[in-house]
Amino acid sequence: MKQIYLDYAAATPIDPMVLKKMEPFFKRQFYNPSAVYLAGRAVRQALEDARASVAQNLGARPAEITFTAGATEANNLAVQGIMRAFPDSEVLVSAVEHESVLEPAKFFRHRQIPVSRQGIVDIAKLEKMISPRAVLVSVGLVNNEIGTVQPLRDIVKMLNRLRKLRGSQGLPLYLHSDAAQAPNYFDLHTARLGVDLLSINGGKIYGPKQSGALYIRGGVRLRPLILGGGQENGLRSGTENVASVIGLAAALDIAQEKRPAEAKRVAQLRQLFIETLQRTFPQAVVNGSPKHSAPHILSVTFPGIDNERLMMELDERGLQVATGSACNAGSDEPSHVLAAISLGAPAIRSSLRFSFGRQTSQNDIKYALKTLSQLLKN
Ligand code: PLP
Repeated sequence: MKQIYLDYAAATPIDPMVLKKMEPFFKRQFYNPSAVYLAGRAVRQALEDARASVAQNLGARPAEITFTAGATEANNLAVQGIMRAFPDSEVLVSAVEHESVLEPAKFFRHRQIPVSRQGIVDIAKLEKMISPRAVLVSVGLVNNEIGTVQPLRDIVKMLNRLRKLRGSQGLPLYLHSDAAQAPNYFDLHTARLGVDLLSINGGKIYGPKQSGALYIRGGVRLRPLILGGGQENGLRSGTENVASVIGLAAALDIAQEKRPAEAKRVAQLRQLFIETLQRTFPQAVVNGSPKHSAPHILSVTFPGIDNERLMMELDERGLQVATGSACNAGSDEPSHVLAAISLGAPAIRSSLRFSFGRQTSQNDIKYALKTLSQLLKN
């Protein structure tokens, strides 16, 4: 049976070039990068070259890159790290953030920023919510369930105004963005984005799972979460996962190189999906923002249809899709993202997420829609 994978927002297959670059670091170059003999120093050099490469893609300095085991850890380091450095302060997170931002925020004084029906942060409301003790705002670049792209530049402009008013005596006001879903399709130059912290994830960019990094702009104060041997400039102790770091750097490089062409190609696939769907099942509702959407994520509500059942039936026909985020392990809680954009419980239970990637072709989309329309007609 033909297998069509439409869940690239959950996981991507590793790029063969990435795997090839990682391989020596499991075998010949297995040394601890902190070892002082020649072979250890060579591994350290490879690790630092990877850091420089990630930094370059983010328009950052190598010292501003901390490697982590995936985006969950990067987000935790950002939120918990900052909040531990500034006791009694407050963090504001958008209501559509991934759980790895929402959950750590709950340990501190926190507020959730409401979003519009299209999933976009309401900047005027955000501005009113920022009290003098707010130290961190966290707004993800691309939403993993509905694909909405947040207006970070406008948020930065507003934050800059507030920063000026605070002056040098007040608390800093940092902006963190979880960009786990962004590197395949978006420019991640941190100065252009205007962020102080940025999380990325290898597992979504054809690199290894549990690889990731947090960009921490020079001068930002935060506390480490993992203490020990002082690796990663004291911010993340533990012997570095060298192969994983090498894989992340290679994957990011390739993703950014392919970005312009892939963004265009995948956006066309998404459009083809939407147009065909609207012809065959006009009741279907596309969630998110028509104007500000990532090319690879499509959330659809099929009124009156049970999403779990439809997903299983699609699976039986070789089509792999998601009912929401695959990232909250085994949870059958209704999606907080769809709830935040004002979908009621029945609509949430009728929604599926389709996500596209490098191996998705026009034929895959046509086949998927044929299968989907057959099932919806029954
Ligand atoms: N943030 C976003 C936006 C995601 O989509 C995901 C995973 O799906 C994560 C964070 C967490 O990534 P990981 O589970 O690989 O740490």
